[in-house]
Amino acid sequence: MKKLIMFVITCLLAFSVAGCSNQVIEPKSTQSDMHSSAKKLKAEAAGKLGVFYLDVGQGSSQLLISPSGKTMLIDTGDVDKEQLMLNYMKEYDIKKIDVLVLSHAHADHIGTASAIIDQLDIGKIYMPKAGNTTKTYENVLKSIKNKGLKVSTAKAGITLDWDEKVKVQMLAPVQPSYEDMNDTSAVVKVTYGATSFLFTGDAEKQSETDMLESKADLSATVLTVGHHGSSTSTSAAFLKEVNPKVAVIQVGAGNSYNHPTEAVLKRLDKKGVKVYRNDQNGTVSAVSDGKDVKWATER
Ligand SMILES: [Zn+2]
Repeated sequence: MKKLIMFVITCLLAFSVAGCSNQVIEPKSTQSDMHSSAKKLKAEAAGKLGVFYLDVGQGSSQLLISPSGKTMLIDTGDVDKEQLMLNYMKEYDIKKIDVLVLSHAHADHIGTASAIIDQLDIGKIYMPKAGNTTKTYENVLKSIKNKGLKVSTAKAGITLDWDEKVKVQMLAPVQPSYEDMNDTSAVVKVTYGATSFLFTGDAEKQSETDMLESKADLSATVLTVGHHGSSTSTSAAFLKEVNPKVAVIQVGAGNSYNHPTEAVLKRLDKKGVKVYRNDQNGTVSAVSDGKDVKWATER
């Protein structure tokens, strides 16, 4: 009897503290929480296609993990995000990048590529022919050379070997050179079953027009909005052809470019496209089982 009373008292005490359930009160986000959430998200994507639109502020970086565990990194964020990117690689437990795509030579896309190449195992690297003379770009080339790696040219019409269950096609650049470097962006389409993801770098209207004229199948379930939502990308004709259900905008809060623009947000809204943005949602994660895409946001 005494034992029973003690049990009731214990339970009452426990109830008043924790509501007598297994509910765990989540502490505020810290580095170790980020680690466990990345681990959890990666575990949820196991055997499926995981697409992580990493929050790198104003810049771009998308980490993909295939059903068989192959990795692809498209862009690497800006130069000041080196530690952040290396932390992400640790959090997602990425030691090898099987395919590294550097969409174009601007720093907000290749800013940490040199460190990524130095510190991780790298399989294949795809870059467009067009380069520039910035220190950032030169450092990337130096790291590639130091590791004895070769660069494959990113261009429309090629298919990338990644995972036998996933089709990876490059839809741009269609032309070998462009006046505007943004238009040299590698555009990658990843198809898994009935779901597909289009990654557009900073491709602008000229490249979009060339893609439309190339007659490639541009349709995709998910569109990474071109050039961080600049009004010079995501033209109405391009958006109509892609016909996405969901769009992700990789953009930093309070950026000086006023990205994303009202014009692009309106175009997406008019078509009823659900929008996720790194500045509002933190890192945005998508997991596809080949039929449906499930979404998770950091905030
Ligand atoms: Zn950019």
